[in-house]
Amino acid sequence: MSVKKMLLTIIFCFGFFNCYNTYSWGFFGHKLINRMAVFTLPSPIIGFYKKHIEYVTEHATDPDSRRSIVKGEAAKHYIDIDHYGETPFEKVPRNWFKAIEKYSEDTLQSYGIVPWWINVMMLKLTAAFRNENIDKVLKYSADIGHYIADSHVPLHTTENYNGQMTNQKGIHGFWESRVPELLSENYDYWIGKAQYIDNISDRAWETVEQSFAAKDSVLNFEAQLTSEFGGDQKFALEQRNGVTIKTYSEAFTKAYDKKLNGMVERRMRLSIITVGSMWYTAWVNAGQPNLDRLESKELSDSIKKAQAAEEYLWKTGTKLEKVKGHED
Ligand SMILES: [Zn+2]
Repeated sequence: MSVKKMLLTIIFCFGFFNCYNTYSWGFFGHKLINRMAVFTLPSPIIGFYKKHIEYVTEHATDPDSRRSIVKGEAAKHYIDIDHYGETPFEKVPRNWFKAIEKYSEDTLQSYGIVPWWINVMMLKLTAAFRNENIDKVLKYSADIGHYIADSHVPLHTTENYNGQMTNQKGIHGFWESRVPELLSENYDYWIGKAQYIDNISDRAWETVEQSFAAKDSVLNFEAQLTSEFGGDQKFALEQRNGVTIKTYSEAFTKAYDKKLNGMVERRMRLSIITVGSMWYTAWVNAGQPNLDRLESKELSDSIKKAQAAEEYLWKTGTKLEKVKGHED
């Protein structure tokens, strides 16, 4: 093998495995979801969120940035519901304390806690609205948008989260990053207005149930297309930030999206409306505080400092703990 060929191979491998993380929608998708959720809001709060749209957009990916540095963070992004055997939704209690009683907290943390965590985040967001604490309202809004979006991803509900059990490694990033990055320009973002959610826990669990119901199609269609396309048609080389990477080809990606009959777009649209509805619900449950008073306030120095510290840890790769969970 020539040196040039060897170098190219290294770049391809490096590019391929680093192009898409196996975390969630990808930076692009998460930012888009939080941003579009602002436009679903009704008049009493849309002005506030529009003013801070750059914040909720930019910070949509904070929870993923924290995953490798904050203990216990990873489990908040998914639930491997199939770990609990046949008919898991009948077995696993929606109530956190009953679930702990039945399975132990260690087990729940090991296999992911996203539906319970959405409920906790809603309590935090509601309290922040009630206390008229703008820093926390924004931080929790951005965060909860992320967790809600993750719960809409089928591969966030299974132990086979990256196709690693079925020889389909890479499918996680393919579904949630490659497909929307290539096709989301044509998605329909006319989604309607956010609605008040009566039962937050039920909504979070229903979302996970729908995601899980879709995961067989996500895996099976990819396998079918792989045998139709063959290796050389399935992947292609692309330039990204000056680096050549190997990625799923445009033809394969489009064929997959067609087979899924627009599933990625549907899950993204549902994510957007659910994020908007949760924000709205938290504000209503907090007693509908007048946000006009808060609109002129800026982020406090304390939160800026905390963010700078977090960013420093992330950039320097300082790790507090190697977290177990959905990682390559
Ligand atoms: Zn995530």
